[in-house]
Amino acid sequence: MFKHDKNFNDMKTMTCKQLGGACDTAFHANSFDEMAEISKKHGMEMFQKGDKAHLESMNEMKELMKTPDTMKTWFETKRKEFEALPEDR
Ligand SMILES: [Zn+2]
Repeated sequence: MFKHDKNFNDMKTMTCKQLGGACDTAFHANSFDEMAEISKKHGMEMFQKGDKAHLESMNEMKELMKTPDTMKTWFETKRKEFEALPEDR
């Protein structure tokens, strides 16, 4: 009867650390692109707060981004990790 909760079934969870960040904050998203957006926002927030651990992980990401191929490979690896995750319940 109440099937309207379908849309909430395909959420997946990844942590900041899993996405190249520095803390255990968990993000929930329907797609990897959404996940990447949320994680980026979180990173920017922490950056603005001057969080040292996040500053360091962001610098590492910047190094990655200098090489488009490396960045692409990293992104694809994370995307596969996301796809392989079980959905939240
Ligand atoms: Zn974090």
